[in-house]
Amino acid sequence: MPAQLIDGVQLSQQLRAEIAGRAAKLAAAGQQPGLAVILVGEDPASQVYVRNKVKACGDVGFHSVLEKYDADLSEAALLARIDALNNDSAIHGILVQMPLPRHINPSRVIEAIATAKDVDGYSVLSAGELVANLPGFRPCTPYGCMKLIESTGYDLRGKHAVVIGRSNTVGKPMALLLLQANATVTICHSATPNLGVYTRQADVVVAAVGRRNTLTADMVKPGAIVIDVGMNRDDAGKLCGDVDFAGVKEVASHITPVPGGVGPMTITMLLMNTVESAERVLGKRQEQLGQPAGMDPRPGTA
Ligand code: NAP
Repeated sequence: MPAQLIDGVQLSQQLRAEIAGRAAKLAAAGQQPGLAVILVGEDPASQVYVRNKVKACGDVGFHSVLEKYDADLSEAALLARIDALNNDSAIHGILVQMPLPRHINPSRVIEAIATAKDVDGYSVLSAGELVANLPGFRPCTPYGCMKLIESTGYDLRGKHAVVIGRSNTVGKPMALLLLQANATVTICHSATPNLGVYTRQADVVVAAVGRRNTLTADMVKPGAIVIDVGMNRDDAGKLCGDVDFAGVKEVASHITPVPGGVGPMTITMLLMNTVESAERVLGKRQEQLGQPAGMDPRPGTA
């Protein structure tokens, strides 16, 4: 029987409706969630990404700020803008669109974002929080993958999950999230010989490589859940993932399509982290005012 599709578009819509409800409550309490998106340069793909993020903010009732700068913006000027946004109480999340022009050090920029506003979850401190099981912001793509797995009702406890890829933004945090969910986790990468030896043992496979047909039907255990993070182009120029979808769907129990799987979830989880950030700020304010959580902190007193 062919695998059931895990529909990232539908799950995103569901989660965004929930986020909009939380945003409305926050706005009523004088704490409308706010996201700042910074774009440096004119990279066409980045322009589309930031436009989509800002539009998504509007759709769920967030305040958003899009700051666009010429490619020759100095690193010092960018760091100064981040510092200002760190101190802006209307902003709960800061996202700097990558890649940055070559003269700007991306690590310095990411580390300049206050951890409490690092809704991309890319900073070293956010990564440390994930390693230490502390509440922090999880990188959006692996966080979205976890929601997709969760949506199938599958219990990861004691199951074997194999992650293909070990990037700081996808593979490694993905493995940590699966570990937190009590899976036994194997991480494979470009130096892993005989990838299929590992994937054939997996109850769940997450492919985050960036090379199509990395995972084929003969490499998948019957009934496994397959999450395809990859974004590649096939010979006809059509978007495709890392998984040979046509073959693997005949073996797996659940599979994400590309497009329409992990992709839509990434922006949704950015919104989720931002609403969460605003809720934390409101919670702290209510604590300071000595009010029970969730109570309207008298608009105008903030
Ligand atoms: P990345 O930084 O290039 O990392 C790719 C990983 O794949 C590396 O760890 C690499 O191993 C490993 N790898 C390469 N060839 C391999 C092979 N033959 N066998 C096993 N592992 C191999 O990429 P990324 O940023 O993690 O992204 C991965 C893919 O996900 C890309 O297609 C990207 O476009 C896509 N993506 C999609 C979304 C979304 O929203 N849908 C978001 C982020 C990324 P080494 O470490 O040994 O080099």
